[in-house]
Amino acid sequence: MSMRPLPEAFVARIAAQLGAEEGRALCAALDGVPPVSVRLHPVKGAAGTLAALAAAAEPEGGAQRVPWSAGGYYLSVRPQFTLDPDFHAGAYYVQEAGSQFVGHLLAGEELAGRRLLDLCAAPGGKTTIYASLVGGDGLVVANEIDRRRAQVLADNVRKWGTGNVAVTTCEPQRLGDFEAWFDVVAADAPCSGEGMFRKDDEARDAWSEGGVRMCAARQAGILAEAWRALRPGGLLLYSTCTFNRTEDEEVLEAFAEAAGADAVETAEVPVDPAWGIVCGRAGVFRTYRFFPHRARGEGFFAAVARKSPDAGGRPRRPRSRREVLTAPTRDEVRELSRWLHDAERMRFFRAGDRFYACAAAQEEALHALAGALPVICSGVEMGQIFKGTLKPAHALALSTSLDRGAVATAELAHDEALDYLRRRDVAAHRFAEGMNLVCCGGRPLGWAKRIGSRVNNLYPESLRIWMNVSDKPSAEPSAVRSMPKRENDGQKAN
Ligand code: SAM
Repeated sequence: MSMRPLPEAFVARIAAQLGAEEGRALCAALDGVPPVSVRLHPVKGAAGTLAALAAAAEPEGGAQRVPWSAGGYYLSVRPQFTLDPDFHAGAYYVQEAGSQFVGHLLAGEELAGRRLLDLCAAPGGKTTIYASLVGGDGLVVANEIDRRRAQVLADNVRKWGTGNVAVTTCEPQRLGDFEAWFDVVAADAPCSGEGMFRKDDEARDAWSEGGVRMCAARQAGILAEAWRALRPGGLLLYSTCTFNRTEDEEVLEAFAEAAGADAVETAEVPVDPAWGIVCGRAGVFRTYRFFPHRARGEGFFAAVARKSPDAGGRPRRPRSRREVLTAPTRDEVRELSRWLHDAERMRFFRAGDRFYACAAAQEEALHALAGALPVICSGVEMGQIFKGTLKPAHALALSTSLDRGAVATAELAHDEALDYLRRRDVAAHRFAEGMNLVCCGGRPLGWAKRIGSRVNNLYPESLRIWMNVSDKPSAEPSAVRSMPKRENDGQKAN
């Protein structure tokens, strides 16, 4: 793969930052081949998923652990993810290895049942890590300023299926207005994207000194809102996919100086020197940098600090402007409950003509969010009720809360599953009369309804795959629909 040359000013900057020899090593690595890595879903992902992926990547099989990530694996070659039903079932997420380190940074935190804000969330790689970490009774609020990217984020969240995420799309300031409300706030800030130079010619073309300065100013603004939203004692996690100190250490040093004694350092996180991560400090922040010539992954920078328990500030949130969510009737609750295996810990609500479920522990929080912010999906989307019977939403098929006994299952072979995902016809004899959960290898993909000899393929048009077996592999495997890019966000598949 031949890439455009690295920007000269970037090469000079790197030489100044790392010294001539190491600067050359980094630039050489940026012209090399990027590693391919995935992270298995802790509930849906299985050894079989990985074995199949590894075999697709290389006939002899080849998958190695990402050492800092539970469920993270490198594949020796990039398979055609789009043609793998497990990819569409959410059994794994295609994610660059360095980005998976955020899970390691949070491993020592008591996260179960907590509220975590992911302030710059699309396409959702890190959101899915956080969703698994906070567990069924926790809540991740995943915000994405760009509405089109927020839709892709929502697709990825539904596919992950943990039912504990609310996706919002607004300016960070509106989440900052939920003051001292979150236990953890993550700001994976838009940046100049130097860490993506190996994968992405556009990131190389878009880079400029002015862009670096513009990003640093924007990052400072995002951090200020993240800090407002964080409760005393809570954890702030800042990250970028760029190497330069202007957007990394310097932004954090200025922030830490302004925060004064309100920002304190966190306990040390174990990092094996063999991983090749460069650990450092910026004010009270502990910092971790991934250079592709040292660590196996793309460029990534992460930093953590804590808001002092003595920082002061009580939780405050905007007054709800309207009551958007209403309670279902008892009959509706009975019908909804029969579709979930953990219905006793869930509450149901209605928004417009659609029903949703969420953990009882987060019901109040979801009402507060829906009353004040543009929420585009939250909890488990259940579907609509017609004449007392639920017409299940696609999201429910992929939810880890679905009770598999609620409905008939149609198990399809690999090629039939691909036909289903292309919204083509599938032989009716595979299906029971009425609604069917369509599975491949035991993992749900969506719904289909059989009426006599006819089968209605209910796979969403917007997610339909268009690729044929003979086509070239997709350049952007994390979303079936292509990801609208924001200028300078340097993002492909985090
Ligand atoms: N966390 C994501 C993941 O792991 O998949 C990647 C996030 S990407 C690095 C940064 C995101 O910030 C982009 O989706 C971009 O649209 C968004 N963004 C751009 N400008 C922003 C702003 N002013 N405030 C907040 N987010 C912004």
